[in-house]
Order: sequence, then C-alpha cells, then structure tokens
Amino acid sequence: MEPMNINAGSNKSHYQILVLGGGTAGITVAAQLRRQLKRYDLAIIEPSTKHYYQPLWTLIGAGVFPKEQSERAESAFIPKGADWIKEYVAEIRPEENVVLTREGSRISYDYLVVALGIQIDWKKIPGLREGLGTQQICSNYAYDQVDYTWKCLREFQGGTAIFTMPNTAVKCGGAPQKIMYLADDHFRKTGVRQKSQVVFASAQGALFAVEKYRKTLEKVAERKEIDIRLKHNLIEIHPESKQAVFEHMDTQERVQMPFAMIHVTPPMGPPDLIRHSPLANEAGWSAADKFTLQHPRYPNVFSLGDCSGLPTSKTGAAIRKQAPVVVANLQSVMQGKEPVAKYDGYTSCPLVTGYGKLVLAEFDYEGKPSETFPFDQSKERLSMYLLKAYALPRLYWHGMLRGRA
Ligand SMILES: Cc1cc2nc3c(=O)[nH]c(=O)nc-3n(C[C@H](O)[C@H](O)[C@H](O)COP(=O)(O)OP(=O)(O)OC[C@H]3O[C@@H](n4cnc5c(N)ncnc54)[C@H](O)[C@@H]3O)c2cc1C
Repeated sequence: MEPMNINAGSNKSHYQILVLGGGTAGITVAAQLRRQLKRYDLAIIEPSTKHYYQPLWTLIGAGVFPKEQSERAESAFIPKGADWIKEYVAEIRPEENVVLTREGSRISYDYLVVALGIQIDWKKIPGLREGLGTQQICSNYAYDQVDYTWKCLREFQGGTAIFTMPNTAVKCGGAPQKIMYLADDHFRKTGVRQKSQVVFASAQGALFAVEKYRKTLEKVAERKEIDIRLKHNLIEIHPESKQAVFEHMDTQERVQMPFAMIHVTPPMGPPDLIRHSPLANEAGWSAADKFTLQHPRYPNVFSLGDCSGLPTSKTGAAIRKQAPVVVANLQSVMQGKEPVAKYDGYTSCPLVTGYGKLVLAEFDYEGKPSETFPFDQSKERLSMYLLKAYALPRLYWHGMLRGRA
C-alpha cells in the first residue's frame, strides 16, 4: 500500500530546491532539508518505484539474506511535504536553472542538489551482458542478479573461481573482494575448496588503498590461499567456452583464463547525462568543491554521493557525512553567506572477510584512519560483522533516510 505522503502528479514547474535522484544521497539530503527548512518547497526527481539498500547485496550474494530484504517502496521514503516527480532526468541546463525530463517536463529551480549515482557500463565488456546470469557468470552489482551469485556459490563443484575488479572507480571499492572471501569460506564449508583455485583479478595495483587495512587483507588473502593477479583488467568474456580475457595494465599483454565461475565487478563511470552537461568536471563527474560540495561555477548547485567528483571512495557511509554538509552550506548560500561547513573525505568500507568476520575500514581524504570504535579496527571481528548485517541496515532505513542520522 502506498503511504499518504506522496505529492506525485503535482503540476508545478518550479521548485525552490530540486533534488535529482532519490537513492541514498537524494533521500538523505531531502529528508534533512525537509526537517530543517520546512518553508522551502522541494521536489525529488526519481523514476524508480523501488529503493535499494545496496550494501546488503554482498551478504545476499553469499546466501545470508534473501534479496527482498534490500528492497523497499520508494514512496515510503519520500519525505513528508516533498513532491516526488516520477520521471527520468534527461538534461540539466544550469545556465537557465532548468532540468528537462525524458517524459517532456521542464522544471526550473532556485537550488539544485545532484545525486544521480554512478553509471554501470555492462556493455563495455563484450560478452558480459549476454552471459550475465548464465554459465556461472554473476555479479552482486545489480538487484536482479544478486541471487544468481548465491546460486553460483551453492552449485560450485571446484575448478577456477575468478573475482574481478575493473580499472574504473566503483561504488564500494571493497565489495569485489568481500564476496570472494565469503565464497572461499563457503567452498571450505562444503568441501570443494581443495579442488579449486580462487583468483582475484584486479586492474588495481594493490588490494586496498589504505595501508592499515591493506596489510590485514593481504594476510587474509594469504591465509585463504587466494591467487592475486594485480593490474589484470577484464576486457572480454566468452560465456560458451567459459573463458575470461584480461589485459595487463602496464604491458597490455592479453591473458586468457578459463573459469568454472566468475564474479564480475563491471566498469562504472559518471552518468552520461552528467558527463554531457555543463556540470561535469574533466573526468565527467558532477564537479564539486571537495570540502563544501558546492559547484565551482554554479554556486546554487551542490553534488554528493557516487555521481560527484569528490576524490574519496564512493560509499553510502561517505554520504552520511556529506549530506549534513550540503544541507548546512545550502542554507548559508540561501542566506547570501559563504558556505563554511566542510566535508573531510570520510568514507567507510566494512570489509567482510568471511561469515562472521569483518574489518571496518574508515578513513578520510588523506587515507588517514578515522575510526569510530576505541579498538583496532584493522582486526577481523565478529562484532563488526554483526554491525554490518543487522545494525547498519536499521540505521539506514530508520535513521539516515529519515534525516535523523
Ligand atoms: C554490492 C555493493 C556493496 C556495497 N557495499 C557498501 C557498504 O558496505 N557500505 C557502504 O557504505 N556502501 C556500500 N555500497 C555503495 C552504496 O550503496 C552507494 O555508494 C550508495 O548507494 C550511493 O548512493 P547515491 O545516492 O549516490 O546513488 P544510488 O543510491 O545508486 O542512487 C542513485 C539514484 O538516482 C536515480 N537515477 C539515476 N539516473 C536518473 C535519472 N536520469 N533521473 C532521475 N533519477 C535517476 C536512480 O534510480 C537511483 O535511485 C555498496 C554498493 C554495492 C552495489
């Protein structure tokens, strides 16, 4: 049943505050804005009728929860008093303070918040789109695929299991290896690990950017006898013959590997819509001052979350710290003042290293640990696993998306 707080279908064509995207970032900001700035009218443009808690997909892919647990009706999270425009943004014209939608609406704004997420480029790997969901080719990076990952793990009978990481920015940089550690754990429980090889083929030059956590992950990979192939970028998949082709990032040498199963983290990038708009920075992301999150050329525009050009790891945890900065600075700009609230690049990656084990990485722009708990978070802990599996989802649905946390 749809709750009563939707104002969808309103024919207004101007809003004081317009939020693009109703995912983690868009809803979090909108909820905080509605709590603090009730007198301003606000709309969210979001075509999806569902909202997903994507961090749970790692555990869903490993069979811990059913996928339905990560899905809710979007309508339940549109803040009271906000309008929901159920349309798809097609063009942003910041010179005119106007947004055009695919459905033909033209909506103008005084202030704009850009929160359109990251684009997943499945088609950049020939064979991937065709093969995904068949032939033991799986990915946790889409709701409709995540249960196939669990099927692949469950039905694995030995051979080579490959886990990939692309040469692009991705959301949650740790997720490509979390599912591998869980798979390894599962293969040991079912007794197939001794007749299999687990390969982490990553286009990156190291397991993790921050030394403190990297050291732990290197030990975990060693303990689990994982074959780590760094600087290996997946460029093709041949589903029928079950072959994956990688390109070495330095030598451009092509390396072919047969697989019994492969978990693919697809290439990602800025949404085309942003890349082709005046908001884009050189790399195509929505440009934003790394501290104030304000656009460098359009002071009435703020960006946050995965679509923004902030030089930090793209996570929901980062958004939890970015949202209050956007809200505070938006208020300053509305009052004709300079934006003074600052985001320090905080991000967090709950690195699941097995069932019941987790390293909670938390760090800032400098890669300096910025930890919440008074113990060494680089150690694998059951308590941190329980936090990820049970406490953080509650905090998300009941706190963050309600503008409270
Ligand atoms: C497998 C996996 C594991 C993860 N693990 C973690 C974790 O452990 N911890 C953590 O903090 N984060 C994790 N994340 C990352 C986290 O989910 C994202 O960083 C976060 O959801 C980004 O929020 P966002 O609002 O920027 O984008 P999203 O939440 O993706 O929202 C973008 C929204 O924009 C909408 N949209 C897109 N295009 C348009 C358009 N043209 N017009 C209108 N609307 C549009 C979409 O429908 C969507 O609702 C994980 C992600 C995945 C996939």
